[in-house]
Amino acid sequence: MQTFGNYINGEWVTSGSTFENRNPANTDELIGLHTIGTVADLQQAADAAAAAFPKWAAMPAPARANILFKAAEILDSRFEAVAADMTREEGKTFPEAKGEVRRTINILKYFAGEGSRMGGHLVPSERDRVHMFAIRKPIGVVGLITPWNFPSAIPAWKLAPALIAGNTVIMKPASAAPLSAWRIIEALHEAGIPKGVVNFITGSGGALGKALIEAKPVKAISFTGSEGIGKWIHAEASKRMLRIQLEMGGKNPTVVLNDCDFNSAVENVVNAAFFSTGQKCTATSRAVVEDGIYDRFVEALVERTKKLKVGNGMEAGIDIGPAVDEGALKTILDYIEIGKQEAGAPVVGGNRLTGGAYDKGYYVEPTIFAGVTENMRIAQEEIFGPVLAVQKASSFEDAMRLANGSHYGLSASVQTTNISRVYEFIYGMEAGLLTVNLPSAGVEYQLPFGGTKDSSFGPKEQGPAAFDFYTDYKTIYLKY
Ligand code: NAP
Repeated sequence: MQTFGNYINGEWVTSGSTFENRNPANTDELIGLHTIGTVADLQQAADAAAAAFPKWAAMPAPARANILFKAAEILDSRFEAVAADMTREEGKTFPEAKGEVRRTINILKYFAGEGSRMGGHLVPSERDRVHMFAIRKPIGVVGLITPWNFPSAIPAWKLAPALIAGNTVIMKPASAAPLSAWRIIEALHEAGIPKGVVNFITGSGGALGKALIEAKPVKAISFTGSEGIGKWIHAEASKRMLRIQLEMGGKNPTVVLNDCDFNSAVENVVNAAFFSTGQKCTATSRAVVEDGIYDRFVEALVERTKKLKVGNGMEAGIDIGPAVDEGALKTILDYIEIGKQEAGAPVVGGNRLTGGAYDKGYYVEPTIFAGVTENMRIAQEEIFGPVLAVQKASSFEDAMRLANGSHYGLSASVQTTNISRVYEFIYGMEAGLLTVNLPSAGVEYQLPFGGTKDSSFGPKEQGPAAFDFYTDYKTIYLKY
């Protein structure tokens, strides 16, 4: 069985103890062993990143880009294998995993391209013969902490802008799916990234998090994960006045209006609620449906959901894989019980799947609760699984009130053919990512990504906005 090492100062380090990476679709399958990093490893990585920083920051950005382009090519040469690793460790279906690996490759290339474009500001001065401009500069050593649900794309969308901007990094991936991120580090290593520029440490976030925040050379932390851990990181990192970027949970609504394109709205809600087992941060967890079509819409959702095939994501024809691990399965099943008490029996689903191959994995039926009201826990709390709460709205205004009735604000969608409603939604919806007549999930990397309210803190990720976090300005006034 392969042991996957940590990557510190350009070396693979496999000493010490390990933890298992098992397939949530079949827990008999051990995918590999990953190294449990220690606080001492973390300090060593921080020192290596600090030592590597001046030379890496001084390298022309297009030269840094060549390494990212090469890493993208290396990943592409292993495309199917890397995607299969992802399905086996995270559970999402093989087509979804291929989509994510493609996105990772594109993210590496996109930010490599930014190496030749990244500009500053040049503006006219009020004063005679004064030339004034601001250049971007990297911030130093950055800690990157990532979740398991997009185990390749999220590491990529933090690593690539951090590196192209000239920062050096320490990455701590999620313990539930560390291999997909490891594959990116492997590609960067093979592409010739100088030693110390990228460091990668696996192990429990609880054990390593504080040490990462407290490591002296670390100047910034970018975190994606749950609200609770994000808020804790905010409190700890603020003590050191670190730059912080937090992307956290959501309770994303899809607003379905009477005048929607009915069939496509059904498809969009089912897609956004259940694909990737509802484990996308931008997944729809609430459908807010106007009363004119409410009954018919719920009925259609149920019929469509019954057709979804749940199983091992490596098998053809499967729509939905398992929950990522036993803890996630338990949370989902607990919320289904809460939903039964609050809203009565679900209109579809509501059970763990058992029997045959299901007994070896963490499978749960896609589940819909209808008649959910705004104060129920299943309308307010993030479940992060294939559970949809349907709320009835008496009007567009009521739908907007219900949709905004959450302390989260990550993504939201509207299904309507009325252009005025579209604009009212765009301006009135309190969320960072909006879709119109599309599923709420399914974003691209070329535009800013992130939420509002308790979903996010700090500058946005991805697109040109990524550099708002990973660079600082130096402003120059020059008399000639
Ligand atoms: P999580 O439990 O918060 O873990 C995220 C990362 O933080 C993991 O690498 C984890 O390590 C680490 N961690 C745990 N405790 C830590 C600590 N005390 N200090 C520093 N790091 C610590 O979240 P998750 O279960 O992996 O991911 C699901 C959550 O992520 C959901 O809430 C989802 O909404 C959110 N998410 C948000 C976005 C977004 O862009 N807004 C995108 C994707 C996911 P271990 O794995 O070792 O515990």
